[in-house]
Amino acid sequence: MLIHLSIELTRTQELERFWAPILQSFAAGETVLPPYLGLGNAGFEALITDLAASHIELYILPGQHKTPIRQVRQDIVNLRQSELQELVSLLMENANPSACYARFAAMIIACGCLGNRHLWKDLGLPERPRLSQIFAWYFPAIFSGNDRNMRWKRYLYKQLCETGGDYVCRAPSCDQCNTYQECFGPET
Ligand code: SF4
Repeated sequence: MLIHLSIELTRTQELERFWAPILQSFAAGETVLPPYLGLGNAGFEALITDLAASHIELYILPGQHKTPIRQVRQDIVNLRQSELQELVSLLMENANPSACYARFAAMIIACGCLGNRHLWKDLGLPERPRLSQIFAWYFPAIFSGNDRNMRWKRYLYKQLCETGGDYVCRAPSCDQCNTYQECFGPET
């Protein structure tokens, strides 16, 4: 059962709840995100400035964007650009207009989907429910559409499959699918 997020979040709450842990993990090299989280230099700087304005201090060194592993992640993002843009479009079509950082959230989720582990781990979040909260706040229609609590990455790709993509589904329905556990198994 998914947890409903019934409260309105302020900008500071968004930063504290979602962005501070992601940035902390990014600084520690624990995400699959490319340089600047995939937001570009300007987007990244805007986020850091907002965090500082909310008195949330993080230590990101400029050189941390240039590590070889992050460059590899950037190469993967470049190679899979059309897939990335499909994911971003899907998310932004369902974005909450009241949320401050929906476009940033769409970009990091799309970049995170190019990783190999569970999406919440590849984004550097402390637990899966935090990722569910991100969907609930930034992309409420996507959140409520996942009413069978499918793994989030799989759920996004299933939406792309249903609109003509060819990503995960090899069966006409989930109940007949021999990879059911990969979509609905626990994400531990
Ligand atoms: S269980 Fe099979 S049919 Fe259902 S979303 Fe996963 S891959 Fe697609």
